[in-house]
Amino acid sequence: TPTDTLLELDRLDVRYGGVHAVQELSIRVRPGETVVLIGANGAGKSSVINAIMGLVPAAGGQIRYLGQDITRSSPASRARAGIRISPEGRRVFAHLSIEDNILSGGYTLSKAKRDEALAWMYEAFPWLAARRKAPAGTLSGGQQQIVAIARALTASPKLLLLDEPFLGLSPVAIADTSAAIRLVQERGMAVLISEQMARPALKLADHGHVLRTGTLRRSGTVAEIRDLALSEDYL
Ligand code: ATP
Repeated sequence: TPTDTLLELDRLDVRYGGVHAVQELSIRVRPGETVVLIGANGAGKSSVINAIMGLVPAAGGQIRYLGQDITRSSPASRARAGIRISPEGRRVFAHLSIEDNILSGGYTLSKAKRDEALAWMYEAFPWLAARRKAPAGTLSGGQQQIVAIARALTASPKLLLLDEPFLGLSPVAIADTSAAIRLVQERGMAVLISEQMARPALKLADHGHVLRTGTLRRSGTVAEIRDLALSEDYL
C-alpha cells in the first residue's frame, strides 16, 4: 500500500545504447528503512541510483515515490520532493570550504534552515566544525564521504541515496562513514545504499538485494541475502 512505501521501482529498465544495464528491477523502500543493493563492478548499481535521482532516464518501468509516478520528473523536482544523492566518488568541490560544500546542498533553503542544518552537522561531527574553513580537497577520502553525506542532508531529505559510500576507504574510514550513516538513520530518514563491499553495508541495512548483470539474484532480509551478497564481493 502507498502509505508504507516511500519508493517503489516497478520493473525498472536502464539502457545505454545496446547495453541493458538494469533489467526489470522491482524493489521497494519503506519510510525510515535502510535497504542495501549489493553487486560487483558493472552489476548496475550506479544505474539504479542515478535513475532514482533522475540523472539517467528510465528506458522502461516506473519509479514511484510517495505514491506519485516520478519516472519522468527532473532531478531538481525529485530533490525538492526529498530525494538526495551522495554520488559515486563523492564529488565534493575540492576548492570550496567544507562549510560551503555542506551549504551547497541547501541553497534553496532559508537562512534559518541552513543554520539549523549546519548546527546539527557540527554537533554530530565536531571535527567538521573545527575545519569548516578548510578546502574540502584537503580532507581524507573518508572525511570527504562524510561531507558528501552532510551536503545531501542539508535539506533534510526523506530518502538518501548513497552510491558506493565505502569505495576506496580504509577500515577506519569505513567505520566513521558507517557511524555517519547511523546518525542519518536515527533521524528517521530512509537510506538506499549501493555497495560492492557487502560486509559493512549489510551491517547497516534491514533488507537488501543482490544484483548481477542488471538483474536481481536475491531479495530479502539481510540474513537471507548474506551468503550470496558476500560471494558477490570480490574486493
Ligand atoms: P561500478 O561499481 O563500476 O559503478 P555498477 O554496479 O554501479 O558498477 P553501472 O555503473 O550501473 O554498474 O554499470 C552497469 C552497466 O552499464 C555496465 O556494463 C557499464 O559498463 C554500463 N554503463 C554504465 N554507464 C554507462 C554509460 N554512460 N554508457 C555506456 N554504458 C554504461
